[in-house]
Amino acid sequence: MPTLKFAVLAGDYIGPEVMTEALRVLDHVARQENLKLDYKLADVGGAGIDNHGKALPDSTVKTCEQSDAILFGSVGGPKWEKLPPKEQPERAALLPLRKHFTLFANIRPGLLYRELADASPIKSERIPDGIDIVCIRELTGGLYFGQPKTTTTLPDGDVQSVDTMVYRKSEIERIVATAITTARARKKKLCSVDKANVLETSVLWRKTVTDYVAKNAPEIELSHMYVDNAAMQLVRNPNQFDVFVTENMFGDILSDEMACVCGSLGMLSSASLGAGKNSLGLPFGLYEPAGGTAPDIAGKGIANPCAQILSAALMLRFSFGLDKVATRIEAAVKKAVTSGTRTGDIAFGRPSVGTKAMADAVIAAL
Ligand code: NAD
Repeated sequence: MPTLKFAVLAGDYIGPEVMTEALRVLDHVARQENLKLDYKLADVGGAGIDNHGKALPDSTVKTCEQSDAILFGSVGGPKWEKLPPKEQPERAALLPLRKHFTLFANIRPGLLYRELADASPIKSERIPDGIDIVCIRELTGGLYFGQPKTTTTLPDGDVQSVDTMVYRKSEIERIVATAITTARARKKKLCSVDKANVLETSVLWRKTVTDYVAKNAPEIELSHMYVDNAAMQLVRNPNQFDVFVTENMFGDILSDEMACVCGSLGMLSSASLGAGKNSLGLPFGLYEPAGGTAPDIAGKGIANPCAQILSAALMLRFSFGLDKVATRIEAAVKKAVTSGTRTGDIAFGRPSVGTKAMADAVIAAL
């Protein structure tokens, strides 16, 4: 019986609530598919600070190192907001985790089912078939990690802060390789987003992407777009993109915009794949919902668990090679969310069913 060994880092506020339901769905699927789940829970974020004195406890890193994948919830919230920025859960847990496991490729599906097209802020006649695109964001380079990163008081008493945007050709090539793999499995269309009219890193980005695709994937239809235009095109006509690839900060912003046009943060999953392979020879990855800890609805039992369940499906696909099982879970979520308004409601911020009932509907559809 194949064993799925993964670390479960539920995090804070709604993190544990939606994680409980994702694990229940996984347990159900494992029984159906004759798979053995071998997962270990570990604290992260605020829970790490409260129980171990730091957002990413050493014991949690060790648990992750001994696993083939990480199923992550979300971290942070008002309880820890007064901590110095460097100790805040997101910065002190997620960024080091990404760095530690070189999780350089963030794959975020932007999916809105046709039946729920009216949940998008875009007029539904513009998206009659819903939305189905993928954002590939470089995750370990650029402005968020580049050095120097300082704040200094100048001799004249003024205060100056510096962030540094750095990219190496090799970093660009490996994210393009991921984008090509994703594009090949879809419509073979790739749009690279940059700001090559202003930024040196973007000039290198554009040249590297162009050369790499020409050499390694000439069958891919490649286009380029400036990030300001991409932000506009995403709300004008999101489906003109099939797969788009971009650097860290642009991807951070565009992927949240994509989440908004897709109607609900509670529906969107993500995979962050590493340079390393797991014990099965497949990519080690961290899988998490696109949204945060939603403190405003935590404890009410109304958070949408679908993003967490879909993240678990991505984990099965990428880190355990179980594409068919992942597709089955994705189909069950779609059926649960689109069959009847009761379950459809919670997916789009009008909770009427509850976290557990939503997961029950997914399980019933499996
Ligand atoms: P958020 O994503 O937590 O919430 C934004 C809005 O979306 C809220 O109204 C919330 O109720 C709703 N929402 C989010 N997920 C939902 C779900 N599953 N079901 C139903 N509604 C959902 O963003 P925020 O309020 O800006 O941040 C709250 C905390 O989360 C902050 O501390 C932030 O730093 C943290 N955060 C963490 C991550 C992460 O761990 N990767 C990502 C983003 C934000």
